[in-house]
Amino acid sequence: MDRYDVVIVGARVAGAATALLLARAGHRVLVVDRARRGSDTLSTHALMRPAVLQLERWGLLDEVIAAGTPGQDHVVFHYGDTPVRIDTSKRLYAPRRTVLDAILVDAAERSGANIRFGVDVRGLLHDRHGQVSGVRARNPDRTMEDLYAGVTVGADGRRSRVAAAVEPTVTRRGATASAFVYGYWAGIEGDGYEWCYRPGRTAGLIPTNAGRTCVFAGVPRPRFAAELRHDLEGGLHRVLAETTPSVAARVAAGRRCGRLMAYPGTPGWLRRPWGPGWALVGDAGYFKDPTTAHGITDALRDAQLLADALHSALTGELAGHEALGHYERIRDELSTPVFDATEAVAGFGWSLEEVQQLHLTISDAMQREGDVLSGLHMPEVAFAV
Ligand SMILES: Cc1cc2nc3c(=O)[nH]c(=O)nc-3n(C[C@H](O)[C@H](O)[C@H](O)COP(=O)(O)OP(=O)(O)OC[C@H]3O[C@@H](n4cnc5c(N)ncnc54)[C@H](O)[C@@H]3O)c2cc1C
Repeated sequence: MDRYDVVIVGARVAGAATALLLARAGHRVLVVDRARRGSDTLSTHALMRPAVLQLERWGLLDEVIAAGTPGQDHVVFHYGDTPVRIDTSKRLYAPRRTVLDAILVDAAERSGANIRFGVDVRGLLHDRHGQVSGVRARNPDRTMEDLYAGVTVGADGRRSRVAAAVEPTVTRRGATASAFVYGYWAGIEGDGYEWCYRPGRTAGLIPTNAGRTCVFAGVPRPRFAAELRHDLEGGLHRVLAETTPSVAARVAAGRRCGRLMAYPGTPGWLRRPWGPGWALVGDAGYFKDPTTAHGITDALRDAQLLADALHSALTGELAGHEALGHYERIRDELSTPVFDATEAVAGFGWSLEEVQQLHLTISDAMQREGDVLSGLHMPEVAFAV
């Protein structure tokens, strides 16, 4: 029987990054994903400082840049009609998910992880003590296969089947949610990342690969359901014009490429991310409203924290419950300020002064995250093998 140290369900930012780090540390890792290799997913893709730091430390930032991802040395917040320019201490990048996820997958494979696409996990396997011992999966040729591992990681996103099977305790449940429409434009004059706020609406521009700009608009869920859902194009332009007319004018001068995407909104959660034989990482364990554009950044952070914990447990450096308890504590401590601020932004009850204050809270939290990540020892372990 082929038995892996770790089987990971989901091969995007959380799963591929966790696999990369574990494989670099010498563990036998299998990753399965039901999606097609290189496919896109429903997500804009602005990376924040800690994510860029992670990619740099893992030796992957050059690949992101080589893929033609433009770097931004400033961010402009439009609070009503007032633009506030912030120079960033580190260039920021917003690679399309077809670019970023593929770079992580390729790097994980180069490091020795086995990655299989088109494989749909249907359920979990358990040993005679009731501990999770792997997954039951359906292969692309429709055959069923049992895949055994010491630890099963759910990196399978918002609708995680692994989480549904292990039924983790929900330690925080969000109460607010915003809805988004976004798409890609050519020919928009760029000015860094641009985030636009006016009570009741948000919008923004995110320069990305192939000379395109991701244009998005966000509204409370009831407005999306009543007005935008059936007219994505008209709704997007209306919300842009209401939020920041100067940005709307620049978008109107550009050309849309491809169809618009819609996200109707769902409240966030923090779930207990481990138990006997299983762990959760990325959205599967911790999801928050996309309004603060932090999910990828947090997934790359938590991939590091989880890989570090699993490495300690697999090598016997720490008992499993100690290592994974540590993962949970650090994840929750770092996540709480951003989760709370995101709840407030997604609730749309703010004034312009209040939303500005929330952004400062998030900026402070990112600073702390950067400090914690710099102190982790995993990359040194990883590069030594
Ligand atoms: C509209 C929107 C905009 C966003 N914008 C940003 C942004 O600008 N910046 C940012 O940082 N974050 C953003 N996010 C959040 C970000 O998309 C998520 O936090 C991130 O994708 C989480 O990554 P993940 O690897 O945990 O899960 P996912 O990216 O969801 O990947 C999960 C993978 O698991 C696979 N899978 C699921 N079930 C199974 C199964 N049963 N068997 C096999 N495979 C399975 C799926 O095929 C998928 O490939 C946005 C989200 C949304 C919805």
